[in-house]
Amino acid sequence: MITIALSKGRIFEETRPLLAAAGIVPAEDPEASRKLIIPTNRADVRLLIVRATDVPTYVQHGGADMGIAGRDVLIEHGGEGLYQPLDLKIARCRMMVAVREGFDYAGRVKEGARIRVATKYVSTAREHFASKGVHVDLIKLYGSMELAPLVGLADAIVDLVSTGGTLKANGLVAVEHITDISSRLVVNQASLKTKRALLRPLFDAFTSAIESQPA
Ligand code: ATP
Ligand code: MG
Repeated sequence: MITIALSKGRIFEETRPLLAAAGIVPAEDPEASRKLIIPTNRADVRLLIVRATDVPTYVQHGGADMGIAGRDVLIEHGGEGLYQPLDLKIARCRMMVAVREGFDYAGRVKEGARIRVATKYVSTAREHFASKGVHVDLIKLYGSMELAPLVGLADAIVDLVSTGGTLKANGLVAVEHITDISSRLVVNQASLKTKRALLRPLFDAFTSAIESQPA
């Protein structure tokens, strides 16, 4: 049996075609179902529906053999105990620093001022600002980072941006690009050894599905 951990929403939607390419069809739609373990058309493959940030943890500790997680989540997790064989090139976006329109980010940085930064990506943010020599106070949030600068909780946020629509709708602008993000396949290191015969064909099917995708 192979257990695959993934999150609902965008990751599931973008993974569905890859699963199909590997001949795997979920027996139920996780968006509609309340089930957390979803069987598939294959008796030896099941899906585990978990929170995006929990995917690496389930896979690391063997709660799932493999999973699909954003690089944002993997950087924060640290990737310990995980084998990362494949960039699936799905759920692509950019990790950015954004501020309120009119906030002089470059000027404040130049002055050496301390900048208050709200984010759920605390490790990534700490490393980014340290590498640039920018002094920051980090404020950990779990969602809706865009709100923080609007109510004076922070001067800046570190968040994922794809179209920029959410920033714009909230009067924010991106001022710095931190890194490009996409989702990756992560595999439990023990499963890689003990279930190689089952896993290998999945890796191969995913690989050819990605290669046939438009870049
Ligand atoms: P929740 O929304 O339930 O709080 P979440 O924000 O972690 O959880 P999603 O919004 O579905 O869950 O994001 C899951 C993953 O999708 C992220 O870890 C990231 O890799 C990717 N992602 C997030 N936002 C975007 C985006 N705007 N464009 C493309 N990919 C994104
Ligand atoms: Mg979200």
